[in-house]
Amino acid sequence: MNAPVSDANRPLLEVSGLKKHFPLRGGFLGGVTGYVYAVDGVSFHINRGETLSLVGESGCGKSTVGKAILKLFDITDGQVVLDGRRIDNLPAGALRPMRRRVQVVFQDPFSSLNPRMRVRDILAEPIRNFGLARSRAELEERIAALMDKVRLPRDAVNRWPHEFSGGQRQRIGIARALAAEPELIICDEAVSALDVSVKAQIINLLQDLQQELGLALLFISHDLAIVEHMTHRVAVMYLGKIVEVAPKRQLFAAPRHPYTEALLSAVPVPMPGAQRERIILKGDVPSPINPPKGCRFHTRCPYAFDRCRAEEPPLRQTEAGHWAACHLHDLPAEQNPLAGAKGAAVLAV
Ligand code: SF4
Repeated sequence: MNAPVSDANRPLLEVSGLKKHFPLRGGFLGGVTGYVYAVDGVSFHINRGETLSLVGESGCGKSTVGKAILKLFDITDGQVVLDGRRIDNLPAGALRPMRRRVQVVFQDPFSSLNPRMRVRDILAEPIRNFGLARSRAELEERIAALMDKVRLPRDAVNRWPHEFSGGQRQRIGIARALAAEPELIICDEAVSALDVSVKAQIINLLQDLQQELGLALLFISHDLAIVEHMTHRVAVMYLGKIVEVAPKRQLFAAPRHPYTEALLSAVPVPMPGAQRERIILKGDVPSPINPPKGCRFHTRCPYAFDRCRAEEPPLRQTEAGHWAACHLHDLPAEQNPLAGAKGAAVLAV
């Protein structure tokens, strides 16, 4: 059978109706007593060469989405389609080509590199595993080129992970991901553990690599401020669901979901003397074991009204390319605090 033909106009990755419910076991016989609804019906796509940032507070399910795409576990429901081919239901033996095309960079550069392997061997492993070098000389050439790409000296291949700083280790992690020649890299809080200046360097590196290699990135982060300068679109997650998706500029200028509005209010404004009106959300994120009925955000939402407590809002388009799950958009514009350029209006100079 021929391999499916790649269609340049088709999204590289399509996730639809993704659910991951982890069973809770307990009681005398260790039976299932409930579920953690970690991801509960998430849909999005990523185009070739695009960065989509998946943003939300800790525990919202964003890392679980990344792991589900990587097929680190079986999903409960939904589909993950890579370049037109469903990958969530592939048997273990058929996963190899997918594993080459989708790579990951993890948060912790200290624990994600094997301390007993020199950098050369860390980089050689995926090249060998995926049969990407035909000779020893080609292997060495590829390793040297990877060191150049992540701006580390070539002779550092003989060193051990503990001899590098956190930022340098993350560069090695990125080089290891690139070694497989992927089309998509999932960056799971990839800069969260780094100092501010190092964070900026790694983000710049990822941006440069994306442009040079045409990579798609799924950038998972709890921090909207980090993604502002490097993403094309943003998807905001709350308690297992995507509540807003939009191109970056639209989302930052005019959020259409109260949760996004609150997250944005904490992002520093890059204009001297300007500041946003900070929105402090009440309470903690509810437990994903027992999510609230209706809109999951209603227990913390400053605009909640009766309908929010009874009916779950679907994700629907508020303007071209901008989607939000909020009942406010059924109200007349004059009663909707998020209609118009609300995001811009919260800037108080
Ligand atoms: Fe707030 Fe209601 Fe909108 Fe949910 S649906 S975000 S509770 S206004």
